Amino acid sequence: MTLLEVNNLQTEFDTDRGTVKAVNGVDLSIAEGEIVGLVGESGSGKTVLAESILRSVEEPGEIVGGEILFKGESLMDRSGVEMRRLRGSAISIIFQDPMNSLNPTIRVGEQIAETIRLHQDVGESVSLPAEMKRKIIGAAKNSEAWKRAIEMLESVQIPEPSTRAFDFPHQFSGGMRQRAMIAMALSCEPDLLIADEPTTALDVTVQAQILEELERLKDAFDTSILLITHDLGVIAEVCHKVNVMYAGEIVERARTEELFTNPQHPYTQNLLKCLPRADSEEELHSIPGNVPDLIEMDFACPFAPRCPEAEEECFEMNPDFRQVGEEGHTAACLRRGPEERQI
Ligand code: SF4
Repeated sequence: MTLLEVNNLQTEFDTDRGTVKAVNGVDLSIAEGEIVGLVGESGSGKTVLAESILRSVEEPGEIVGGEILFKGESLMDRSGVEMRRLRGSAISIIFQDPMNSLNPTIRVGEQIAETIRLHQDVGESVSLPAEMKRKIIGAAKNSEAWKRAIEMLESVQIPEPSTRAFDFPHQFSGGMRQRAMIAMALSCEPDLLIADEPTTALDVTVQAQILEELERLKDAFDTSILLITHDLGVIAEVCHKVNVMYAGEIVERARTEELFTNPQHPYTQNLLKCLPRADSEEELHSIPGNVPDLIEMDFACPFAPRCPEAEEECFEMNPDFRQVGEEGHTAACLRRGPEERQI
């Protein structure tokens, strides 16, 4: 069953130089129990898409079109209060740098317990000032929320969780901080977890552990995950389906295995060539040029200026989505699919 459905979503930023179309007509869907990847270079609009889904785009950004359906209901007409309630309970998000999300002055266990108190009815007042709450941590440690916080730390495999819950964030390693963030995000058992570059700041070994953790927790908590990353290697580890994003648009989508064995869009093909290979001593490939300036983008296919296969028409005609492989594998390229144009 579909949990999240995004249709023709458009988010723009009004700037002095002009309008930035950061999310430009995006369709995306996530079924219950699925891990769906969203991959693309930085500046491709991935984070703005996540913020749009959460309806937390800040000014001068604004969602100007499209719809977001969560469990079949539109999020577009929800009030700010309703969306705040939804964020953290039904939909949670974790970011690349947990230090920006964890409060350095509050013990890790208390931060998780506070999230639980805010979003779940565990019979505790949330009206006390934060300072006072910290002072009564001795009493809080016996509370239901505190016990759940320790269980959550244990579930993300923090060693000695009942002791480490008293640590401040700086006393945790980078990997432990990210685990603590995951514990906090999952503490309210959300239906959807949005993980925005959750492993980027971590070394390869810890990165693999965190990805395993996400996969295990998806099953344990029955949570769907939207995994946002610039790294196709991360996608290959855990995702069922992949959406490739470029310059505010999805340019290819497929099952993960299909995308890796039969990539079709020239951008995806180039991204795959950038992946380091253990069996090759060839120099790492990099895609020439940069993600285009979204204000000055006066060409039809957003990848045209960097595409090795670009022809004149690519600058003039918007590529539509075409089936390019097995069912569900589509790409937006004039030179792919059954309707391939002889250009
Ligand atoms: S439409 Fe043209 S420029 Fe765009 S990806 Fe396809 S071949 Fe390249």
